[in-house]
Amino acid sequence: MKRPAKPRNAAPAGALKPPRERTHRVAASRRLFATLRERLAAGDWSLPELTRLIASEMAADVCSIYITRPGEMLELVASFGLKPQSVGQTRLRIGEGIVGIAAASATAFNLADARSHPDFAARPDTGENDFAAMLAVPIRRAGRCLGVITLQDRIARRFAAMEADVVSTIAMLLGETITNLGVVQTGPASLGDALSRRYLGFALAPGIIAGTALPLGRASAPKTIFAPDPAAEHLRLNRAIAESEASLNALIAETLPDGDTSRDVLDAYRMLAQSGGWLERVRSAINEGLSAEAAVDQAGAALHARMRRIADPYLRERLADIEDMIERMLTALGAVPPRPDRADGMILIARRLGPAELLDWHRRGIAGFAIEEASANGHAAILARALDLPAIAIEAGAVNTITANEPVLLDAETGVLILRPDPDVAAAYDRALATRSTRNAELAEFRTRPAITADGTRLTLMLNVGLAFELDQLERTGAEGIGLYRTEIAALAAGRVPSVADQAAEYRKVIARAGGTPVVFRTLDLGADKILPNETEEPVENPAMGWRSLRVGLDRPAVLRRQLRALLIGAAGADLSVMFPMVATVAEFRAARDLLESEASKLSPGPRSLSVGTMLEVPSLLFQLPGLLAEADFLSVGTNDLMQFLFAADRGTPRLAGRYDVLSAPVLELLEGLATACREEDVGFSICGEAAGRPLDALAFAAIGVRTLSMSGGSILRVKALLASADLNVLHPVLRELRRAGAAGTSLREPLTAWAREHNLPI
Ligand code: PEP
Ligand code: MG
Repeated sequence: MKRPAKPRNAAPAGALKPPRERTHRVAASRRLFATLRERLAAGDWSLPELTRLIASEMAADVCSIYITRPGEMLELVASFGLKPQSVGQTRLRIGEGIVGIAAASATAFNLADARSHPDFAARPDTGENDFAAMLAVPIRRAGRCLGVITLQDRIARRFAAMEADVVSTIAMLLGETITNLGVVQTGPASLGDALSRRYLGFALAPGIIAGTALPLGRASAPKTIFAPDPAAEHLRLNRAIAESEASLNALIAETLPDGDTSRDVLDAYRMLAQSGGWLERVRSAINEGLSAEAAVDQAGAALHARMRRIADPYLRERLADIEDMIERMLTALGAVPPRPDRADGMILIARRLGPAELLDWHRRGIAGFAIEEASANGHAAILARALDLPAIAIEAGAVNTITANEPVLLDAETGVLILRPDPDVAAAYDRALATRSTRNAELAEFRTRPAITADGTRLTLMLNVGLAFELDQLERTGAEGIGLYRTEIAALAAGRVPSVADQAAEYRKVIARAGGTPVVFRTLDLGADKILPNETEEPVENPAMGWRSLRVGLDRPAVLRRQLRALLIGAAGADLSVMFPMVATVAEFRAARDLLESEASKLSPGPRSLSVGTMLEVPSLLFQLPGLLAEADFLSVGTNDLMQFLFAADRGTPRLAGRYDVLSAPVLELLEGLATACREEDVGFSICGEAAGRPLDALAFAAIGVRTLSMSGGSILRVKALLASADLNVLHPVLRELRRAGAAGTSLREPLTAWAREHNLPI
């Protein structure tokens, strides 16, 4: 194949380079480092010369350097290989194109063909359309992105890991020295640094909090990049590994008492942190002449680039754990300033947080956090909810643009972080917070009161929980038991399904903590968005409707049987309620119950009583009610899943949120019918989806005859307070009329809200 001519000085580059050429590259990188060191020491270098030198030594067609400019821009300041007239002219917004995204997210990109990347922003004036491969590495200093260095090749290929390492070392060097070249403007803060800025995201754990920013990232590139004595650096590295491990052990011992299942989270984390190829990578970089901190920093950057390509959220979480370990090692090596002992009232802003790190910051007093890379079911989100810390997932780049101690407002109700809030915005939030704290004090009074409406109708409010330490909420809320114990959460947090003994110990502890109030254990509801890291199933088109939950349990009964055994052992001598998720047919329910009974028959002593029920999440069950009610001891409606299957509306698609409403005539009719049928057949009935915890919905459920609701801890007091001031006898005719008027399926939320406001109800 005929290739276009290469620029002067550049060796041919391609994916299939012969080994001799790779050897040449190792030698070239050593030579390049040596030249750079010499030139730097002599103060004798310029950016154009540097790009030429790098392109030539790295055998790349192009090397370019972009520098950040006021107004969130990047300017091409030097290039070997792109059209000379574009230098000083070509500008990109931070966040625009591959280079802009590398700057915004402080992440390296290594793309075989940048032109086919969805974010590629063509700049024909540079001539870069001729080049396929692109390596873009951010140039950072003191937590800020100063620019981006790129390599490009005509042929589509990914740059080798070794090449990426060399360029990231050069980027480190540039970060430390580029300000001396006069190309970076380090004058007074730009206008943008004084204005308020909103970072959008989504809520992980609810709450609103104002505080000061604590951005957490690699605070600065290591000062010492090269070190003459590899043996001494290996020694420093080993000491740092030991030190960071000791700090982690101390944290585990201090934060989590023995037997707490969330210890598993940290143990899994530690195992991963100690293993893996990245330590090897650190060691070989030291052998090549880097200091221990530069080698660790470089391995961290490579890991980050790799992480961005991993789709599985749980695998990403594991890698986040390793990153946490790297951060600890950099601290031990003196490359990162030590963490403040106290962080009271501060709002942590990080790219991501491992579970150990989050527990550590919680102990130091943070008031909330925002993370760039988060999944709603990730460790950080699970722990945030359990620790009652407001938290959001936030757009990429926030860490790099927020400076320590700046005022921030974290609104984890709507999922937004406001940096340097304007006085009127801050005042509005202050008012909202003051109202909230008065309201919370008023609500606290409901803790010891029963859930009872103004007309004397008694309800039972229970908790939805998933980790043992959330059981504290029983006392805090006065809930009358656990209506939904999501057993899969502990498995997700640990990254695996725990052993029978560990599960039994957990269940025993939960029953003991519930102090005689009922606990409904739902068997593992894994699949769809709740994936364990070692699950290697092929991606499917509709995971929520796929091979998940009880379907897996029935097809591969070993795991389900083990869990059922653990439940029976854990509940020995106590009352046990087991609930199966995602049941679609009576036959499935029967098969699951048979497994439970067969396990129970093998065990003595077993629980004092055994009650077996099902979630009602799949609409097909509605057409098998007589059979189901004859066999189940109780039903609990999971409105989250039922609504998505009833209306064919994915629960994770933001555009569909609110399109179909539980508070609508068809759904209320369905729920009313179910509640009546269960009452007539003496089958327990409850609602445990998110709707049960929304005060207005809970009130409507009470009005149609539902008597047991299970919800998250934050909702119990608010629901109790609303019920206490509502007279169902007054509401009944109103709701009847609204349902008649809304027979076409429209939402009744607005008119019902208006009615509640008119009657001064605390909705
Ligand atoms: C539900 O579907 O309403 C439910 C409670 O289960 P989950 O949210 O865990 O799917
Ligand atoms: Mg569900």
